[in-house]
Amino acid sequence: MDKPTNYRDWTEEQWREKLSPEEYYVLREAGTEPPGVGEYTDTTTEGVYRCRACGAELFRSTEKFSSHCGWPSFFTPLAGDAVIEREDRSHGMVRTEVLCATCNSHLGHVFAGEGYPTPTDLRYCINSISLTLEEGAADKR
Ligand SMILES: [Zn+2]
Repeated sequence: MDKPTNYRDWTEEQWREKLSPEEYYVLREAGTEPPGVGEYTDTTTEGVYRCRACGAELFRSTEKFSSHCGWPSFFTPLAGDAVIEREDRSHGMVRTEVLCATCNSHLGHVFAGEGYPTPTDLRYCINSISLTLEEGAADKR
């Protein structure tokens, strides 16, 4: 069966076909990869981070910072409408979940007011497995 053009119309069955079990667990079941193991945790390579599920551009290396939290951290998304933020009350906490606006896949969480020396004082704490780094000049977009 052909997959719908709009990623939001994909069935979970279709996502399971496209993604590895590890990717599916994080992107479609809002799982979290263990800290410090993700391939992009300390990456400083210049480029644009795309959604691993649908390929949408989400974050730039120029807004990535070293938070020492164990996951890739960005202080702002590439564009305000690239991601969706919604309240997440799972695990007995109130957090803000970050989703890809194009395909509704889970990316991570955003935390505010932690005192990091960044322009926004926001930390988009994103799973490496939710991202694919496209190397290249990040500021040309
Ligand atoms: Zn996506």
